[in-house]
Amino acid sequence: MASINRQKSALALAVALLAGAFFWFDLHHHLTLEQIRGYQEQAEQFYGQRPLMAIAAFAGVYLLVVALNLPGGALLGLLAGAVFGVLVGTVVVSFASTIAATTACALCRYLFRDLVQGRFPDALATVDKGIAREGAFYLFSLRLIPVVPFFVINMVMGLTAMPLRTFYWVSQLGMLPGTFVYVNAGSELGRLTSTGEIFSPRLLLAFALLGLLPLIAGRLLTWYRKSPGQKDQKANNRQGQATTPTPMTSSSQVPITAAANLAAPSNHEFHPDGSGQGIPSSRLLADNCTRCGVCSTRCAFLKEHGTPGEIAAAWRAGQTTADPFACSLCHLCTAVCPEKLEPGGFFLHLRRLAADRAEFDLRPYRPILTYERLGASALFAAEALPSGCDTVFFPGCSLPGTRPGSTWHLFRRLQELVPSLGMILNCCHKPSHDLGRQQYFSTRFQALQQHLWQRGIRRVLVACPNCYKVFLQYGGELRVKSAWELLAATDGPGPEASANSRVTIHDPCPLRHQPELQQAVRRLAAKHGLDIKEMRSTKGRTLCCGEGGAVGLVRPDLAANWGAQRQKQAEGRPVLTYCAGCAGFLKRAGMSTIHLADLLADPEKARSGNSPVATTPRTYLNRLLFKLRLKHRLRKPG
Ligand code: SF4
Ligand code: SF4
Repeated sequence: MASINRQKSALALAVALLAGAFFWFDLHHHLTLEQIRGYQEQAEQFYGQRPLMAIAAFAGVYLLVVALNLPGGALLGLLAGAVFGVLVGTVVVSFASTIAATTACALCRYLFRDLVQGRFPDALATVDKGIAREGAFYLFSLRLIPVVPFFVINMVMGLTAMPLRTFYWVSQLGMLPGTFVYVNAGSELGRLTSTGEIFSPRLLLAFALLGLLPLIAGRLLTWYRKSPGQKDQKANNRQGQATTPTPMTSSSQVPITAAANLAAPSNHEFHPDGSGQGIPSSRLLADNCTRCGVCSTRCAFLKEHGTPGEIAAAWRAGQTTADPFACSLCHLCTAVCPEKLEPGGFFLHLRRLAADRAEFDLRPYRPILTYERLGASALFAAEALPSGCDTVFFPGCSLPGTRPGSTWHLFRRLQELVPSLGMILNCCHKPSHDLGRQQYFSTRFQALQQHLWQRGIRRVLVACPNCYKVFLQYGGELRVKSAWELLAATDGPGPEASANSRVTIHDPCPLRHQPELQQAVRRLAAKHGLDIKEMRSTKGRTLCCGEGGAVGLVRPDLAANWGAQRQKQAEGRPVLTYCAGCAGFLKRAGMSTIHLADLLADPEKARSGNSPVATTPRTYLNRLLFKLRLKHRLRKPG
């Protein structure tokens, strides 16, 4: 800590010395309109002889002036227009100014954010909350409307938790029109008598309108969401902690679930989470956990930090070191707790608090969030809904990418049972849910849910445990059924168990509370010639494969610990599972895995471990081809 403070002091001193030298040597007197005009000819000559060096030198000076918040940036913009011309000048100034602004913002954050946070934690938390919600819009407006000085914006944003990446691109976009105006004015530098001429009142007004547009649009959206009809809906769903379905308000509207209540620790026993169950408050956990250690002996994360009761008590006292993003959200602790407590729910709640207050670094999760975004994008999403269709197969993101052939086979098998079956290619947004981005998750999942309902869909068949859990927990009146259950109920007798048929089975942890589904999978496995020997931790007490909660992206050691436990329990037998994520993770941990979809498509190949399984980036190509296949089918129904 002391060495960090020394580093900060040294950096602050260096910045102050550089800024002081600028004024000490009267450099600011070189940055006036007259002086700039005087340099124009020399600069043009230099640019004519050595264009790249001239651009680099200009960008260097510009960066230094703007990053140190020194006066003269606008005049340098004019000089760029005069020397480089409008196009090159705009490109150079746009990048130089954005990089400089981001540097200034980062400097301010590094030097002062901790200080401000220490003194005004609540105020900063509120600001961060607003920034997480609408920060990009605000920044865009401020950049476009040249009322607040450029350097003030950089510094203020530096105190917030806005990601630098967002700051960079919003700044570049928002400053582009103003940059163009300056550079363009610079191309006629000789005629300018003052910088005040550059922005006419009409131009200022146009910029102001342009800048306010996204904010106004955002406000209208919020107003719409809070309109009476929408409010009633939310109220219903908040009460919808009730287990009975919420009455329909109109034939085209499916009851939607409420976003999590992200209030700070309360005296209430449960925080509502929109699932009808609620998650335990820190007080409930701290007071009712007997510290028996039944859960913490099984979980490496808890072994590190103590029992859930100890963690909750420390958290209430502001002293916990337990990172909720290191919990796999596997809910094994819930399954084994004699007091019926739900520590996993508590850690999810902590994730939501961190996300809501923009207190965690999203960068490690970019791959998974990109994966999620693409899954719901126009590029990969698709639907095929035959007439009279009220049931769809929702294969999720992983299966069509890793096993397109087996996924298609599964669809055809289901179609034999439900002739008017449709298919939806989309993402259930479980990654955002598990990262605690509840607002984002709710918005996106509700949109999907509404869309399905409006298209007349009342039942969703899934093959992915995560999709199952999301639809079950948040799907309202949309009924969810596992494809495996449907098939197990109808599948005929299979072949005799063969010599290479001895396997063990890994139940995915999102389905630990679904005994009927677990039984259905075992029936299907037996019908397809497999002889199952159960592992020690199975069904309701199954272990996480290691992929849960995206822990591997921040604590690979904890993720690997789960995989190692599984490997030990498998005792060298191939592992049958019904989750593409588990199959991939356990395989990377050194186990031979079989996915149930592969077993159904080609039992012989699956049993001998030869089922084709694609990996990234091939999975993306497979999903596109799968979508084309579906579209082709759309044109030729049946
Ligand atoms: S990793 Fe699983 S067992 Fe451990 S605390 Fe989290 S939910 Fe509970
Ligand atoms: S099993 Fe339950 S009571 Fe025991 S330490 Fe874990 S949470 Fe506490």
